[in-house]
Amino acid sequence: MDEDQFRKAAHSAIEEIISYRRSLPSRRVLSTVQPGYLAPQLPPSIPTEPEPWDAIQPDIDKLIVPGLTHWASPNFMAFFPAHSTYASMLGELYSAAFSAPAFNWLCSPAITELETVVLDWVAKAMALPESFWSKGEGGGVVQGSASEAVVTVMVAARERMINRLTEGLEGKEKEAKVAEVRGRLVALGSEHSHSATHKGAIIAGTHFRIIPASKETGFAMTGEAVERVIKECEKDGLIPYYLTATLGTTSTCAVDDFEGIKETLRRCGKDAWVHVDAAYAGAALVCEEYQHLSKQLEGMDSFDFNMHKWLLTNFDASCLYVRHRTSLTSVLSITPPFLRNQFSDHGLVTDYRDWQIPLGRRFRAIKIWFVLRAYGLSGLQSHIRRTVKLGQYFHSLVQSRADLFGVVSGPQFALTVVTIKPLPPTARAVQNELTRKVYETVNKRGEVYLTNTVVGGVYAIRVVGANPTTQEEHLRRCWEVLVEVGDEVRGEMPP
Ligand code: PLP
Repeated sequence: MDEDQFRKAAHSAIEEIISYRRSLPSRRVLSTVQPGYLAPQLPPSIPTEPEPWDAIQPDIDKLIVPGLTHWASPNFMAFFPAHSTYASMLGELYSAAFSAPAFNWLCSPAITELETVVLDWVAKAMALPESFWSKGEGGGVVQGSASEAVVTVMVAARERMINRLTEGLEGKEKEAKVAEVRGRLVALGSEHSHSATHKGAIIAGTHFRIIPASKETGFAMTGEAVERVIKECEKDGLIPYYLTATLGTTSTCAVDDFEGIKETLRRCGKDAWVHVDAAYAGAALVCEEYQHLSKQLEGMDSFDFNMHKWLLTNFDASCLYVRHRTSLTSVLSITPPFLRNQFSDHGLVTDYRDWQIPLGRRFRAIKIWFVLRAYGLSGLQSHIRRTVKLGQYFHSLVQSRADLFGVVSGPQFALTVVTIKPLPPTARAVQNELTRKVYETVNKRGEVYLTNTVVGGVYAIRVVGANPTTQEEHLRRCWEVLVEVGDEVRGEMPP
């Protein structure tokens, strides 16, 4: 494809993207294709001869769009949102154009320096403790996902604990002690922490223990619960080296008791690394009314949230902040001769390869920069406030049919979690079955897309309508669909 062909193709692609996004409100959110739908419609191998864009582009609408789940639809209310905006898409375009895997500062100074600046902007806007800003010993780095952030800090935490417990030892004695300590390390997370913590512990090669978080505490992990599990670990000879605390759990958007957890760790004399996973709800910290939570991050080792969930930025843009950047760089920096240069050697620059697992990295800061400038802080705040209000609106609708809906939690950060009540009230298993049937029927219809969860043994439906294009009318329609299906399925249940 030459310049003229690119110009023509890009114009046409952009027009198509705009009309696709315009069409979203009227599309089914969920695709109806069956597994394996695509391969039979494609040739069995690479075309031998080059194809013009005019031949390629029609296949988007014909083959790809039918197999899409429309995450950008205003009727997408499942999981958590994954935003994409035009400002952010332009960032992706430039990132692709510059094609610069800037693992070292020297590989493209602008890419590294912009990342440091925008992450400091974000930290400041969210009133994160200054220990996370780059001016001190901390700083931020853009990772691909919240899960990647968990694994990255978990590895740093593991090595920090091993180093502490083997300090002063050398040679074979050290080797033996390292092996012994490694086998006893345990990562902790609440029963409502994202599965990324369990997965991270598997990747880090350590034990993993779950801390219960019940309905009584709103599914939030408390200091007392942490203490109980720490005591059990001690009895079993395990050494807690890492803990995930969550700001906005996946099931219900619960916020763990940060102060209680810090106090417990202090009292128990545990210097485990505490990572705050705020993958979705962290975005709310751009609003002053949520910044009491930012203050509670003081003393935490790391904090991560995804701009690509609720803050108007395309996947991927996960912002990880650490209190001591050397805790990452001292573990993840391996420097063969070909990665050396005068700036890195003299410690004059940041090389983000030392803050992450892969070597190469995308220019993700540019889309963040575009979003921050195109919306401004006021735009980000009004987006969060507007969608939080939508959550409250949905909750008020649910309450107007208290005979049909039970509220498990929320509205919390735009998420409301509901059950369907059987008539007459009956055993939990029957209620769970009823809610499950309603949930499955609603998604089969495909007009809106929701996700389920099970909390405290209760099967529930999560509703989070927080896309930039979602309006009251969409949440009202979602509620109507739930009412229609709920009444229908409940009527069919045997008395
Ligand atoms: N942490 C929490 C609390 C989440 O809700 C999610 C996903 O929804 C994740 C982590 C995983 O995010 P990612 O896909 O960025 O790894």
